[in-house]
Amino acid sequence: MAKCLKCNYEIQPNPELYEGEIIVCPSCGKKMEVICVEPLELQKVEES
Ligand SMILES: [Zn+2]
Repeated sequence: MAKCLKCNYEIQPNPELYEGEIIVCPSCGKKMEVICVEPLELQKVEES
């Protein structure tokens, strides 16, 4: 189970996700990049 890097909200795995996609935490709005789909892994996005 991947968790938001900011608020630890549990991000549900979604079969429509793909590597490199940018997702937004539904809880805090933090942007994260999907670096692996199975298992789901996220990394922070450098925000300009
Ligand atoms: Zn969050």
